Amino acid sequence: MAGSQINVRKLAELGVLQDVGKCIVYLRAHGLLSRQQTCPKCGSVMEEKVWASAKVDGLAWRCPARACRKIVSIRKGSFFEKSHLDLRQLVTLMYFWTLDVCQDVIMAEASISKTVCVDWCNFLREVSLFSRYKLLFYLANKLLYRECFLELVPRRDRATLETVIVRHVAPGTTIWSDEWAAYNHLSSLPHQYQHQTVNHSHRFVTPAGVHTNDIESLWCDCKRKFKRMNGAYRDFIPSYIDEWMWRRMRDKSQYFPDLINAIASNPLYQI
Ligand SMILES: [Zn+2]
Repeated sequence: MAGSQINVRKLAELGVLQDVGKCIVYLRAHGLLSRQQTCPKCGSVMEEKVWASAKVDGLAWRCPARACRKIVSIRKGSFFEKSHLDLRQLVTLMYFWTLDVCQDVIMAEASISKTVCVDWCNFLREVSLFSRYKLLFYLANKLLYRECFLELVPRRDRATLETVIVRHVAPGTTIWSDEWAAYNHLSSLPHQYQHQTVNHSHRFVTPAGVHTNDIESLWCDCKRKFKRMNGAYRDFIPSYIDEWMWRRMRDKSQYFPDLINAIASNPLYQI
């Protein structure tokens, strides 16, 4: 199910956004909540019970051993363990975050405050990137459509840019750039880069077809994200750029399933 397309209509059809019981079934089916629990006190296999004091979920794990009767939240060990929000709210904000809508929309749809929304958007951005690093590893030897990297640099000097290029660009790659002086020695690096340039004061495409149009349009697209957000705290800019790459490297229909997979496969949330 995680790989299939999902939208609000389908989530509503499954009852995920209306019925907390169906929401729990959905989250269990996708590996975000545990399907069974061992008693942390005595090791018995726990039973699921309707539990009025488990305020938002209405369910809890209970130890069947008479001498124990330990109660454990159904969220124990999960991505949702530390949140007091209703699971339906959490799925709603996760879904709308993947749509890349403004935070006002997420706040309205999930019925949450600005502070909670900002915290969760930051949290989702961090957790979504867990799968990005796996993807980049996979891409190391494989050129795929939409593959790219952007990195915020403190300076645009030779040492800084060469360090970034060597980190990301495979040996033997042909690199096209403008004639910024910091790039002048790329061909001399021991990575066998083929470096070709275009002088923008003369033309935008050389007779050999060298240009920087693709990277310029990619950069414009990334900047549009920041314009839509009306700016961002400087400390968060690298992670917003990472989020932008995460989105760029997959089809929109994969945002939500991939977020779910990223959480389910994160070792911090092994339920
Ligand atoms: Zn027990």
